[in-house]
Amino acid sequence: MTDNNFWEYLKEGFLSLIYPLSCENCGQPIRESKGYSICDDCLKLIKLISLPYCHRCGKPFSREVDFEEGALCSDCLNKKHYFYFVRSVASYQGVLRKCIHLLKYKKQVKLVKPLADLMIDYLSGCELINISEIDLIIPVPLFKDDYLKRGFNQSGLLAKQIADYFSVTFSEDLLIKKRANLSQVGLSKEERRNNVKNVYSINSARQEYNISSLLLIDDIFTTGSSIEACCKELRKIGVERLYVLTLARGV
Ligand SMILES: [Zn+2]
Ligand SMILES: [Zn+2]
Repeated sequence: MTDNNFWEYLKEGFLSLIYPLSCENCGQPIRESKGYSICDDCLKLIKLISLPYCHRCGKPFSREVDFEEGALCSDCLNKKHYFYFVRSVASYQGVLRKCIHLLKYKKQVKLVKPLADLMIDYLSGCELINISEIDLIIPVPLFKDDYLKRGFNQSGLLAKQIADYFSVTFSEDLLIKKRANLSQVGLSKEERRNNVKNVYSINSARQEYNISSLLLIDDIFTTGSSIEACCKELRKIGVERLYVLTLARGV
């Protein structure tokens, strides 16, 4: 056993004390502790989103109806969005839902790697978002207090991993969240919009506003109102092509 292996061995042993050794989804024992409790077999069960969906916002369409390529949902037909396109990798259900909970609330940050890999794979095969033309990758920010409480921004960790993989510039503080907003659950569309009004702003300490094409990363797309609010601010500094990629999609 080399020194390195020895330390790895000790670390594994230590981690196995902290994290449960069985998969949170199927109960199968996880032989080596990876720092997260979802086994490889279950990770493969994550259901990727496939066509048909709205060309603009990515909202999945019913499979029973034939949709033309580039079809838009009623929301996108009636309203101009600040973003260019939104895409989500997988449905917010089953294993992925568990993974996101383990990441956010049990702080299993090593899950970022396999989850970011799903997003990287998506971007590698995506004709819509040409990653080599993206100037900057940023996450939807957390409010400072929430960030300190959790210790990290899960969307920031995902965004950093993606940016590193594609060698694109990453920023975690171009956009800031000025205050906490109330839960969006149970609010009407109008209330949701008001709830995120003036919550996000461009960090005035940042000077490099020469960004024409940007990729905004979030963990979950639910109502889309936070994403819209972020994109509205980014438009103000002249970002033209605003792509959004989220790991999961709730609706
Ligand atoms: Zn499993
Ligand atoms: Zn749409």
